[in-house]
Amino acid sequence: MGKPTGFLEFERELPKKRAVEERINDYKEIETAPTDAHSKQQSARCMDCGIPFCHNGCPLGNIIPEFNDAVYDSNWGLAYEILSSTNNFPEFTGRICPAPCEASCVLGINKPPVAIEYIEKAIIEKAFELNLVKPRIPKHRTGKKVAVVGSGPAGLAAASQLNQAGHTVVLLERADRMGGLLRYGIPDFKLDKYVIDRRLEVMRQEGIEFRTSVNVGVDIKASELQDDFDAVVLTMGSTVPRDVKIEGRHFKGIHFAMEFLSQQNKRVAGIDTVVDHRGAKYSNGDLLATGKNVVVIGGGDTGSDCVGTSGRHGAKSITQIELMPIPPKERDSSTPWPNWPMMLRTSTSHEEGCDRHWSINTKEFIGDENGHLKAIKIVDLDWQKDPENGRMQMKEVAGSERTIPCELALFAAGFLHPQQEGLLTDLGVEFDERGNIKSHGYQSTTNEKIFAAGDCRRGQSLVVWAISEGREAARAVDEFLMGESFLEAKAVSMLNPSFAHV
Ligand SMILES: Cc1cc2nc3c(=O)[nH]c(=O)nc-3n(C[C@H](O)[C@H](O)[C@H](O)COP(=O)(O)OP(=O)(O)OC[C@H]3O[C@@H](n4cnc5c(N)ncnc54)[C@H](O)[C@@H]3O)c2cc1C
Ligand code: SF4
Repeated sequence: MGKPTGFLEFERELPKKRAVEERINDYKEIETAPTDAHSKQQSARCMDCGIPFCHNGCPLGNIIPEFNDAVYDSNWGLAYEILSSTNNFPEFTGRICPAPCEASCVLGINKPPVAIEYIEKAIIEKAFELNLVKPRIPKHRTGKKVAVVGSGPAGLAAASQLNQAGHTVVLLERADRMGGLLRYGIPDFKLDKYVIDRRLEVMRQEGIEFRTSVNVGVDIKASELQDDFDAVVLTMGSTVPRDVKIEGRHFKGIHFAMEFLSQQNKRVAGIDTVVDHRGAKYSNGDLLATGKNVVVIGGGDTGSDCVGTSGRHGAKSITQIELMPIPPKERDSSTPWPNWPMMLRTSTSHEEGCDRHWSINTKEFIGDENGHLKAIKIVDLDWQKDPENGRMQMKEVAGSERTIPCELALFAAGFLHPQQEGLLTDLGVEFDERGNIKSHGYQSTTNEKIFAAGDCRRGQSLVVWAISEGREAARAVDEFLMGESFLEAKAVSMLNPSFAHV
């Protein structure tokens, strides 16, 4: 334990954010960089609990009290070794994870929890600064070839682990750059894309082969994939968006959130031509919120990213509507500590300005004579528990129907499942009741060479879960190919106590 009285002396303090007036004029990251003194002070709040619930709350099983202790000692080398033993990409989770570890931190019972996510970011940024993040080139190659399809966090983690096990890994991606939703979903103001490129360079030096603009199932047939590789890991994400099929859906100005967000990320990257997943090419730059009344339909992370992006475009007004009732402001008794609390969350994009409304249903899109969207008809909902089955039921509130002006409507109502037709049906994989890839553990139920991880297996989720799934799937593949695996299982530390004090 770094400082026994740390949690009594210091308050939880998160990194400073750039002022709203400044940051809405650009797409640079909102949080300022960690400082050594601040990281040390925040790590001093950790109580090194006998039973560290934080460790259990993290889907990766990050060994949190130990790295907090190392940061307090300014032993960045040890802190980095501990952190990287369970997490391949702390630079992603340290920026955009909702931090379930913090929700289960013991200090959180009666005080604000330890700022674990911030400390994680401080460790990995320091490790890059001190040149501790070196390519780990495997000493032996097994001669086995593995294809990983999809380069989001699940695919990157699986590729990284399989390469460490000595297999020859080819990572196939249909977009023009690697990274999945990290690259073309999550806005630059949350995750600057140099952070992905910096990691890709390390992985390239480790020997992983990256192939972009390859639509697997079309450019490489399912049969070729199976013939050319000893195992295949499907990490294709959950890419089919939930639609709202109501009257007026055909008007111009109604888009899925991902069209809007990925165009903006490409604009920031200076890419002029967009090639969508069907191979259609169009010029970037036409989908802008500038001067428009924007309505974002859906209250989650994706919706919040649309809010932040619309604000940066200079929208006339931004309204976010959500079907479900407003969550409680504080942790509710239905999700007591150490569970992930169902409660109202206000993102940095919301701080920048937006009207938020809950218990609202979208009834109709209204267009003008040129076929352009001009308004949305909405209605208030009353949610009540059904006394018979305890489930929440919604009822429209009589007389609450109204129209709000809207020239740009963005659907951020979630994703259903991976694209099934094409590669997945050609491979003959089974689907579960939600339409995701069905597996025993991580191995497909129909073909022992095929494995799956991330959103295409568990349904839309979080980056931290995608990394965890990618690591676990890699271990399953390694066991399948070699009969055993020395890859780290969840939460098994590979600590070397003799690691140099940096
Ligand atoms: C807008 C948005 C914001 C989000 N913000 C957060 C956040 O702040 N924090 C958080 O933790 N999570 C967030 N998430 C969720 C998170 O991004 C996902 O859970 C995570 O990226 C899933 O990782 P994955 O590797 O399974 O799939 P993805 O990241 O979706 O990657 C799948 C990749 O597979 C490729 N692919 C698909 N089919 C093929 C094919 N046939 N051939 C070749 N390549 C193919 C796709 O092009 C894509 O690059 C957000 C999601 C969205 C949409
Ligand atoms: S639960 Fe919180 S206080 Fe306890 S070890 Fe984990 S981070 Fe430290």
